[in-house]
Amino acid sequence: MEVSLVTKQKARSILHVSGATKEYVNSLRRYFMDHTPILAVETVKFQNNTSVQYDEMIAHRIGLMPLTTDLSTYVLKRRCKCGGVGCAQCTVQLSLQVKGPKTVYAEDFKTTDPKVKPVYPKMILAKLFDGQEISLVATASVGQGVDHAKWSAGHAWFRHTPHIKIKNHSQACAKVCPTGAIKFSQGKLTVPNNGVDCTLCNACIDVDGGESVEITTKENDYLLFIEPWGQLDMQDYLKATMEEFDQDLDELGKLVKDEKSKK
Ligand SMILES: [Zn+2]
Repeated sequence: MEVSLVTKQKARSILHVSGATKEYVNSLRRYFMDHTPILAVETVKFQNNTSVQYDEMIAHRIGLMPLTTDLSTYVLKRRCKCGGVGCAQCTVQLSLQVKGPKTVYAEDFKTTDPKVKPVYPKMILAKLFDGQEISLVATASVGQGVDHAKWSAGHAWFRHTPHIKIKNHSQACAKVCPTGAIKFSQGKLTVPNNGVDCTLCNACIDVDGGESVEITTKENDYLLFIEPWGQLDMQDYLKATMEEFDQDLDELGKLVKDEKSKK
């Protein structure tokens, strides 16, 4: 299997994966979505809530609030030396004390670790009328998306790598391309970014029966798209997910070996 980086941007990275089956690439995709360790609020203790929203509704919104996570400081709760009870290495405290009239934003939270803060400061949590107030303490812990979507670090998907061949320079092909994967300029059809934007919709082929463009795909040749929600920066996201994947593969290998030795 060969993996190379096609593009790495703040909001999206594209990996070219060749020599791997679709099942293997799908495993990688699922690790990017569900296995990267990140912080999210797990418990909320209300001291006061006189707003129109129930405690449960506010707690649910707080749970889905993405928090910046520094994985050089925090470890996965179930792997922590505290045994999953909760300590400074796997949990962080947040507090909220607000009085109306006010729109309550994610940025109104105070945290015990200044490095942990809401990814989207202007995310609205509640609206308070005059005299209403919310006072609470929340505990965020490091978890994984397999346990709850609030611990998902991003979105990932994959498709076959398109190999685009231009046969005739027809402007009509570029006109029908919905993603701009094929462009027409100065009388010529061009394929910017090696065609990574091509969704294999075949609109450019349908327009003239394949007279101008030919698109082929190869078996075991994929593009994996990765978009983080923002808890981790792109570099940390790629690194942490691959480490998690490696660790679980090692664990699986050990279990298979143990079972074999029993027979
Ligand atoms: Zn701990």
